[in-house]
Amino acid sequence: MPMMSRVFCFPRIGKYTQVLQNLMESFGLTVLPPPPITDRTIKLGVRHSADMMCYPFKVTLGNFIEVIEMGANSLIMYDSRGQCRLRHYWILHDLILRKLGHKFRLYPLHLGNIFKLVKKFNPTLSYVTIYRRLRQGWQELKKVEEPSPCIMRDGINIGILGEIYTCIEPAINLDVEKKLKKLGANIFNTIRLSDFIKASLRTDYGEKRIYKKKAKNYLNGPLGGHGFENLYNALYLADRGIDGLIHLLPLSCMPETTIEPILDKICFDHNIPLLRLMIDETHSEVNFDTRIETFVELIRRRKK
Ligand code: SF4
Repeated sequence: MPMMSRVFCFPRIGKYTQVLQNLMESFGLTVLPPPPITDRTIKLGVRHSADMMCYPFKVTLGNFIEVIEMGANSLIMYDSRGQCRLRHYWILHDLILRKLGHKFRLYPLHLGNIFKLVKKFNPTLSYVTIYRRLRQGWQELKKVEEPSPCIMRDGINIGILGEIYTCIEPAINLDVEKKLKKLGANIFNTIRLSDFIKASLRTDYGEKRIYKKKAKNYLNGPLGGHGFENLYNALYLADRGIDGLIHLLPLSCMPETTIEPILDKICFDHNIPLLRLMIDETHSEVNFDTRIETFVELIRRRKK
């Protein structure tokens, strides 16, 4: 496919969507902004996915179907190269979209092939330029992330843990952060894209070291996804005096399901209320809201 005819797109990912679009455009690529996730997106993804496939897969598939309909022909999907299903998403997306008769190219992206891919899409860029633009992108990404707040002694401090896409994309988590803020809570969302990148590059070695060491004792090796991160972040927040934890997990998520009993134990040992919210295409927003409101009220009374 000649370079000029390529119209790129990637699945929507919350507040990072614009940052990623800007980065790709800085490489001289034509990018179609991924549209907001709607009921239609979810229905499309669900219809063409295996029933027990994790929810983020269904949503990203629906998003891809919509962007192809809108004119994208070059899709970028992240390949985690980790232990859970995320590393296989792009292969399955490709297979399903072809079966549906769509014409497109899908490129798996990971930290090891980013320079090679950009060079392939735009051979006029030098490796130095690509590096500089990646650095600019990193700075933009850091700007959209709110700095971690301080624990408010008289306030309600709630930590959010869970699977990355569920924690980051408001259309998936029903804008849980905004809802909690409206209820007066101080939010510690432990899942940030910058941390994920640092962990993938192994540049986060020195961060939260004692908590990582403690968290390892609960496991028998690598787990994939954000399972391990959630354990050490729970221990870290417990030490900082968090008032409550919310565990957001897509139904059938392997790492998050695996850590459920461990997270229960950590919360029990530290006397921290835990609210577990499982999310999939059948969730009800009313039920979700009621549970959040009750949880915040419980913490408020407890603190009194
Ligand atoms: S972390 Fe969970 S939801 Fe995400 S890809 Fe892995 S199994 Fe699926």
